[in-house]
Amino acid sequence: LVSRKKQKEDTVVTLGNDVKVGGGSPVLIAGPCSVESYDQTRTVAAALKQAGITVLRGGAFKPRTSPYDFQGLGIEGLKILKEVGDEFGLKTISEIVDPAHVELACEYIDVIQIGARNMQNFELLKAAGEVRKPILLKRGLAATIDEFLHAAEYILARGNTQVMLIERGIRTYEKATRNTLDISAVPILKQESHLPVLVDVTHSTGRKDILAPCAKAALAAGADGVMVEVHPDPATALSDAAQQLNIEEFGNFYAQVRESGLLG
Ligand code: PEP
Ligand code: MN
Repeated sequence: LVSRKKQKEDTVVTLGNDVKVGGGSPVLIAGPCSVESYDQTRTVAAALKQAGITVLRGGAFKPRTSPYDFQGLGIEGLKILKEVGDEFGLKTISEIVDPAHVELACEYIDVIQIGARNMQNFELLKAAGEVRKPILLKRGLAATIDEFLHAAEYILARGNTQVMLIERGIRTYEKATRNTLDISAVPILKQESHLPVLVDVTHSTGRKDILAPCAKAALAAGADGVMVEVHPDPATALSDAAQQLNIEEFGNFYAQVRESGLLG
């Protein structure tokens, strides 16, 4: 079902009732790694709204490497996203890690993210296939393109056609970046599948200093969107402190990407 052979036209995924992803102008998704508080989320949202961003991301269930690290605010975080999203008219994205939370999450957010660590959580994929909400599926930490597409197939097989794929870097021997951004995955996924393809420049590189060129490369390669992490005060962030842009840095990043003309 995900194959371009099955469907020639690009799938357009609609977030809320108006933001379109795929087959048109690329979308820029921004927001904090984690929803930490109402004030933190609202501060970022206000700045993003002012910059003209339409989609706000923020993690409420955080799949952390260490069990002693901040695990997220859970449902409370989704409620904060809803409140802030409604206030600013921003579409919201958050990761869900438990199949039992998928339906409930639909009441609070516009897009359900399935994270890299859960790309092959088949029960979660099935649950995501049962709802009629857009799904943002991340490529697994060391998943091949074929495995990635099969994971998406699980969702479509249950009737949910609103699926977006997002490349977020894969594990290689290279240590200069947090993960290795597989730019070639973008044109391959676009050729193989009709689903929108996005690139998460933050988690793929883990480096603030190269986000703009990587975002431009993604868009030049045909990506339908880019995701980037933004925090009002990254130094105090409860997760991914080193890689999040502050609001001013985000402004510079956005200006550089816009200047390229690749955002349409
Ligand atoms: C995220 O986007 O918040 C995240 C945890 O990313 P990934 O699943 O790609 O590591
Ligand atoms: Mn993060």
